[in-house]
Parts: sequence; C-alpha cells; structure tokens
Amino acid sequence: MGLVVQKYGGSSVADAEGIKRVAKRIVEAKKNGHQVVVVVSAMGDTTDELIDLAEQVSPMPTGREFDMLLTAGERISMALLAMAIKNLGHKAQSFTGSQAGVITDSVHNKARIIDVTPGRIRTALDEGNIAIVAGFQGVSQDSKDITTLGRGGSDTTAVALAAALDAEVCEIYTDVDGVFTADPRVVKKAKKIDWISFEDMLELAASGSKVLLHRCVEYARRYNIPIHVRSSFSGLQGTWVSNEPRGDQQVEHAIISGVAHDVSEAKITVVGVPDKPGEAAAIFRTIANAEINIDMVVQNVSAASTGLTDISFTLPKAEGRKAIDALERAKATIGFESLRYDDQIAKISLVGAGMKTNPGVTAGFFEALSDAGVNIELISTSEIRISVVTRADDVNEAVRAVHTAFGLDSDSDEAVVYGGTGR
Ligand code: ADP
Ligand code: ASP
Ligand code: MG
Repeated sequence: MGLVVQKYGGSSVADAEGIKRVAKRIVEAKKNGHQVVVVVSAMGDTTDELIDLAEQVSPMPTGREFDMLLTAGERISMALLAMAIKNLGHKAQSFTGSQAGVITDSVHNKARIIDVTPGRIRTALDEGNIAIVAGFQGVSQDSKDITTLGRGGSDTTAVALAAALDAEVCEIYTDVDGVFTADPRVVKKAKKIDWISFEDMLELAASGSKVLLHRCVEYARRYNIPIHVRSSFSGLQGTWVSNEPRGDQQVEHAIISGVAHDVSEAKITVVGVPDKPGEAAAIFRTIANAEINIDMVVQNVSAASTGLTDISFTLPKAEGRKAIDALERAKATIGFESLRYDDQIAKISLVGAGMKTNPGVTAGFFEALSDAGVNIELISTSEIRISVVTRADDVNEAVRAVHTAFGLDSDSDEAVVYGGTGR
C-alpha cells in the first residue's frame, strides 16, 4: 500500500460535523494501510469572508498582509482536522504550507510553486502520523514572506505534494461526484465523466470549470500524477484524470467532453484607438507591466472616416480596477479616446479533443446559442475549444442549450450537489 494525498475542499469541511465526517474518511484510508497526507482548504466560505473583511478596512490592502490574512483560513481547518483525527485515536500533525516545504516565487495573491521540500511531512509519516497540510499557501524563496497561490489553490498544493512525495494518486474530495459534462449547479442533466485526459481537463479548467484548478492539472500532467476527483459526501467512484485510461475506467468516445462557463471575467473596451502600428502593443504592454493576465482580445475594423478603432479584451474581474488605472495613466502616451468597463459578461466554452477531426462543431455551437436567443460578443478558439462571451444574464440558459444540442444530457438521475454555496 502506497502513499495517498487527499485534498478536502471548503465545502467538505464547512462546519464541525463536516470536519468529523472527513476525519473518519481519512482514518479509513490509514486503516487500509496507506500513508496519508491530507491537504485542507479553509472552512466553507471563510476565504471570501476574510476578503470582505479586508475590503472593509482598506480598499487596496498590500499583497503581503492580504496573504497573511487569507492563510489564516486554512490554518483553522488544518488544526481542527488534526484534533478530530486524534479524537478517533489516530496520530496526526498539522503543518502550514511553509512548514510543509511549499516554496514559491514572491508574487503575492497568485504565487507559483517553484519547489517542494517535504522533509517534515516525511518524518511525520515515518513516525506513524497522518500529515495535515494547509492548502493554498507557501513561503517565498526570496522574501521569506507568506504567499497564497490564487483562489482554489489548495488543488495545486495537493498535486505538488503528491509529486514531491511520489504518491500513487492525488484524490480531490469535493461537493459533487466528480467532473461532469457541465457544472451540475447549472445543468441538472449533466453526466459524470468516468475518465478524462489531462488535455481536455486543462481546457475545461482554464475555461472556468472550477472543480479543478488549471494550475493543478498542469502540474499533474507535468509530473504524471493521476487525479481522482470525487465526493467526500458519498462513497462513489469519481472521475479519473490522467494521461491514459486504465482498463477498468470507462471511456466515452465523445467528440465533446463538456461545456464550461465562467462569470469571473470583465471586458474592457479601449475606444478610439488610432489605427496604426504599435497601438495594440502599447496597450497590452501597459497591462502586462501591471502583471495582469488577459484572456480574449478583439479589434474592430476601423471606421474609414476617422481612422480610429476599438480594442476589447477580457480579464479577471478582480484585476479590473488595476487595469483601468494603468490604462488611464498611459492615456496620453497611447492616445485613445476613452475606456469602457463591463463586468456583466460570461464566457461559455465547448471543449473536446474530438472537435479537431469533426467538422460542424463550431456551426452547431453557434446554432445552439442562436436558437436560445443568445447574442455573441467575442469569440476565441483553440484546437480543442471554442469560447464565446455573452451577457451574464444569458449564461445558464446558454450552457443548457449547448449541453442539450451536443447530446450531453443524461437520461438518468439528476446530478447531485451535496454542499457548498456555489460562491
Ligand atoms: P471545493 O470547495 O471542494 O474546492 P469548488 O467549489 O472549488 O469545491 O469546486 C466544486 C464545484 O465546481 C462544484 O460544486 C460545481 O458547482 C463546480 N463545477 C463547475 N464545473 C464543474 C464540472 N464540469 N463538473 C463538476 N463540478 C463543476
Ligand atoms: N481557501 C482558498 C479559496 O477559497 C483556497 C482553496 O479553497 O483552494 O480559494
Ligand atoms: Mg476548489
């Protein structure tokens, strides 16, 4: 029996009962002969509540203090979980990210893991403990300050530890039975996927399926760590994410793996940009210098009479203020007329490696949206994905329409959501 890493998300440890339930599950794995490392998130919506609190005392807290605050959430759950396990008569020790050897760069709020040195975890395991690690946090190699890995970052902690400890599997326990063909909170007829490739899962995650974080899937693919996404509330088999399916994992040879949606982005339109070389470069250099990642970009055809054009792009809502401020400061040098900010948008994406070889997927996608009366504002594609931006109000209807049009609706039971608030 090898080593397993189990990660429990916030909804699985939302209250004392949840912590006790999860503790029993962890002890079962230990009794089955595994060495067990647990990565735990903050309880319920604690992280959101801490963010709300920070905003009440300061509109723009510094990254260092913000990270220090947010990591408190995971510290609470790790200590309580270790206590609950001890109460069941088993040895457990909790560790902060820093103590567990999660070393990151120094970018606060979205640090990247650059090394994992889990010496103390190994020792704790060798002494017969269950090791509990606070997810979503690390320590900067250079500044030695505490960092966080970005929202949902406990998934990445889990996979990074699984790679560093050479675990046989990384189990991600959450509030649904696995990865579905769409968010079960939106599409009741979504189907659970038994096996999905890293490639398709990466696109789904990047397109907003927050059941797994994009960076975590990237990490798992790089180190070839199989992920098993499953519910902490049921005993069911979940979804395996790996390079190749094993013999007992059912593979549906569907053209489309799923539909993802994302309401966390906003759109900025730079109005009245002179249509000459270097303008787009100046705009996006300004954004890049502010360390903001953008997603989709579109430039309109310029009006012949004015020689001016508009450039629109999408970015995380959380970075909206920073981007507008940076562009306003550079307005005179870039030479545009005005800025428009719109945070009432949604992105809907269709993902599947099968679309590479099947004509008509794009047409079918647009037809489904048009039949549902949904207007498309931006479009972007990759080899295995098509995404559009629509009004936020249309998102649920659009996702359901596309899901049905591509034959993804299940004819059996409704997808179960066991917990969480969907926040
Ligand atoms: P945790 O607290 O366990 O990290 P998250 O809220 O981050 O949980 O992720 C689980 C949620 O992801 C589900 O409750 C579901 O609403 C959402 N989700 C979005 N897309 C999907 C999908 N394709 N399959 C399953 N869940 C999805
Ligand atoms: N607690 C953090 C968050 O809510 C990290 C995580 O849950 O993965 O984003
Ligand atoms: Mg999550």
